Amino acid sequence: MKKSALGWTWLVMGLLACKTLVPPTLSPATAPPAQPPTRTPTSISPIDSNAGSPGLDDSLYPNFGNGGYNVQSYQLNITVNNVATSDLSAITTISATATQDLSSFNLDFIGFEITSVTVNAEPAEFERAGQELTIFPPQLLSAQQAFSVEVSYQGSPESMYSEALPFQTGWVTYDKGSYVLSEPDGSASFFPVNDHPLDKALFSFIVTVPKPYEVAANGVLTKSEDHGATVTYYFSARDPMASYLATINIHDFDVETLQSPDGIEIRNYYATGLPKEIRQPFARQGEMLDYFSGLFGAYPFEVYGALVMDTDFGAALENQTLSIFGMDMIDLEDVTNTELVVAHELGHQWFGDDISVADWSDIWLNEGFASYCEALWIEHTQGTAALNAWARSSYQEISDYPDYYPPPGAPSANNLFNGGVYLRGGLTLHALRQTIGDEAFFKTLQTYVQRYGGGNAATEDFINVAEEVSGQDLTDFFQGWLYETNPPELP
Ligand SMILES: [Zn+2]
Repeated sequence: MKKSALGWTWLVMGLLACKTLVPPTLSPATAPPAQPPTRTPTSISPIDSNAGSPGLDDSLYPNFGNGGYNVQSYQLNITVNNVATSDLSAITTISATATQDLSSFNLDFIGFEITSVTVNAEPAEFERAGQELTIFPPQLLSAQQAFSVEVSYQGSPESMYSEALPFQTGWVTYDKGSYVLSEPDGSASFFPVNDHPLDKALFSFIVTVPKPYEVAANGVLTKSEDHGATVTYYFSARDPMASYLATINIHDFDVETLQSPDGIEIRNYYATGLPKEIRQPFARQGEMLDYFSGLFGAYPFEVYGALVMDTDFGAALENQTLSIFGMDMIDLEDVTNTELVVAHELGHQWFGDDISVADWSDIWLNEGFASYCEALWIEHTQGTAALNAWARSSYQEISDYPDYYPPPGAPSANNLFNGGVYLRGGLTLHALRQTIGDEAFFKTLQTYVQRYGGGNAATEDFINVAEEVSGQDLTDFFQGWLYETNPPELP
């Protein structure tokens, strides 16, 4: 993720104020739905040893995600009846495998009226409390058993504010359409989900919208069906994906299809009505794709592209295969600087998307790396002197404003996207490169991508790769850069 300068300032300077402005993270406990089937709380043993855990013990957000099963795939079948209100009816189908005997298991889900839940095609009872949807399969699920869950629901997505950052996330409806910006926990605002990056899965989307609206989602558009007044769009994403990167965006779009010089497929979606000049900062995406592929290893997904909505939301987000940009992230007076945002989101496709964090406290593995991708693009396009100037001015910035740039390795739950995980995280990589040399540094990045691509990594995993490749003991190096209040000197 990358925030606009304005949003950034507000974020780092206004946190105290934000606490009073931002509603509580997860919507207040939803009353148990009136419609059947439901179960009275007294029928559940609170110490049922076969109940799946309601969280994955993330060190910052222990209730994110759920335990007891792994999801293999989600299919989201959504019919948007009214784009202005995002009134929709939907069926989410989940294929999963139990990792323990399960008398019940949880999904994360906010709002909507649930009209039915089935497990292995049989009706299942359920309960709701806050973001937790607890499902009781009609028969105990055995450890290692594959099972399917189907949740049918209707209504409009509720406004979602994460405790991690001070703006609306999840499915956001605005005056001309809707977009999705879910990091870290907004996905539960539009589908029932095991909402933690540890449980990556395949995704497919079947989304029906009234004309003239169109749909842009992750992966490849495999077909569309014209029903006269409505159109159904089918998207499928081939590679495992963290749930917060799932995106469905609705507007009418101008779609630009091209290839990188080395043949990577690109499709960019621009909200119809935006000026043609809006494409300028994206003109070198193909070159960036090829350059980063050379540095880190082959681009990990089947397609890439940018999506620009015609509204401001103070951020850009690296949704897998389709990064989204708010209008306020694009400065046509300064295309070179906007290009760095484009490079940042593209860099995340390796660092954040292909390799996902194992714990949200590892967020510098996303943001520090994407920030250093900006620096690498500066180096590639403007030369070594420009890279060194970036390092000097960035180091001055973190030294002058230490409160804004806390140690990247220990973010707090209510300020996950702090300046430290970005700029000091990026400088950590630059300092590592100065310490172990270019050859070992880029070999470290490549080995890290080879080893953890498609899965998850923790900070310790990256440190281990750097030590293994460089043959150096980097304990003190990483301790200083990631955890000490005052950053070490730049080598
Ligand atoms: Zn980012």
